[in-house]
Amino acid sequence: IERTLAIIKPDGVDKANEIEETILNEGFTILQKRSLQLTPEQASEFYAEHFEKPFYPRLVTYMSGGPIIVMVLVRENAILHWREVIGPTKPSVARETKPDSIRAKYGGDDEHNAVHGSDSSTSAEREIRFFFPDTVFE
Ligand code: ATP
Repeated sequence: IERTLAIIKPDGVDKANEIEETILNEGFTILQKRSLQLTPEQASEFYAEHFEKPFYPRLVTYMSGGPIIVMVLVRENAILHWREVIGPTKPSVARETKPDSIRAKYGGDDEHNAVHGSDSSTSAEREIRFFFPDTVFE
């Protein structure tokens, strides 16, 4: 059994009900859930690994530009399974290769891709702690 961090990004929030229905249909349990708006400083810190990327300043503006919903999801193989369910980073690629994925259905352009998912157990732990600092990991 494994935990991962899911974010419904600002552009996905108006589809939150549909996205949460998909989450439950895929066998995840929503262990924790918060709605909040990141400050630009918090968004910069969350995406620090992308500091060098040309899209970093836009990414920070986008992710701090409106409310988001963060969730800790639990399931067997949660990290990989959630990445499968959300689909490729770019919604245009998702629509070509995985039309049932969340990013295919609700994403816009390369940046506005509706949702986030942790990409490894190390990042899942860091990201869960970022939003839910009291979480205990064995
Ligand atoms: P996330 O970390 O949000 O789950 P990801 O791991 O699939 O996404 P990353 O490569 O880590 O993708 O990029 C982080 C985020 O930066 C993307 O989800 C997207 O919002 C934005 N992004 C990625 N590539 C581009 C790009 N070429 N142009 C604009 N924005 C981009």
